[in-house]
Amino acid sequence: MIIQLEKNIKPTQLQKVQEKLQQINYKTNEVKTQYAHYIIGVGKQEFDIRGIGTLPGIRDIHRVSDAYKLVSRKWKVEDTRIDLGDGVKIGTGNFEIMAGPCSIESEAQIESTVAHLVENGIRIMRGGVYKPRSSPYSFRGLGVDGLKIFYEKCKAAGIKIITEVMMVSQIETMLPYVDIFQVGARNSQNFNLLDALGEVDKPVMLKRGISGTIDELLQAAEYIFSNGNERIMLCERGIRSYEKAYRNTLDINAIPILKEKTHLPVIVDPSHGVGVRKHVEAVALAGVIAGADAVIAEVHECPEKAFSDGQQTLSYAEGKGLYNKLRKTFALRESF
Ligand code: PEP
Ligand code: MN
Repeated sequence: MIIQLEKNIKPTQLQKVQEKLQQINYKTNEVKTQYAHYIIGVGKQEFDIRGIGTLPGIRDIHRVSDAYKLVSRKWKVEDTRIDLGDGVKIGTGNFEIMAGPCSIESEAQIESTVAHLVENGIRIMRGGVYKPRSSPYSFRGLGVDGLKIFYEKCKAAGIKIITEVMMVSQIETMLPYVDIFQVGARNSQNFNLLDALGEVDKPVMLKRGISGTIDELLQAAEYIFSNGNERIMLCERGIRSYEKAYRNTLDINAIPILKEKTHLPVIVDPSHGVGVRKHVEAVALAGVIAGADAVIAEVHECPEKAFSDGQQTLSYAEGKGLYNKLRKTFALRESF
């Protein structure tokens, strides 16, 4: 059960609500986010919702049978929109493209990417400065020094930054330079990291785990929300299956299923989703038709020379073609 409290609820009223829930054997969790104040009741007993909903200090009450509560569409029917400022919004009919290299490599590379994005009307640049790599000997990112240059160049061009955070201890350092924290597939169930990202007022894009179920992704998002941060997006980036003909199996099904189960925006990552450059476009367009609110794609001036994920990275010319088709595909979907 989700109880949304009035902003100015009195401590005595709050206590009454908690007592009432305890009487019906519900465990109570108090959640304060940047926008609202909730009590999450978890229990099995049947109860008369009117007996609780009429208590003073309660704004709204909903039964939510899912294991995840606050991210469920069962209580919040309308889509959530993530407003990044300066007219950049994700969700509710605002289609955005996030593009950039897998890894931030140099100042020159950032400048070149920014120019490409500006030329194509793209407002969000991706790029990792902390890279989770299968081998410890692969390039692992430029760290905070790279992030500072990334920030300066993007700020000057009016571009927002999405970049991966891998550890709780990185959050504070990264905070001033980041517009969206990306949680990578390998950290999708790093509950300490999710708890900590719940305490910041910056949007988070949470990727599905390599072998993560949809339910696990939603419960991971619940960690962030229940710790105080409502600004969450989910990302389908492919899961591991028995198929070896491509890198990952992009689960197109997950997109409409997530859109049904949650009010949060859903992003599709066709680059990691298929992992093969020449198929990124087809998969990206399919993701948009399936209902994605945004696409995140890897592009590089010279993909063959990229420090990571070159095999799935588009050239600028390929990127340009993709953006045009994505926008047309989104308009087509909206016209259905
Ligand atoms: C990335 O976005 O470059 C990345 C490492 O993604 P994932 O966590 O989905 O593998
Ligand atoms: Mn990558």
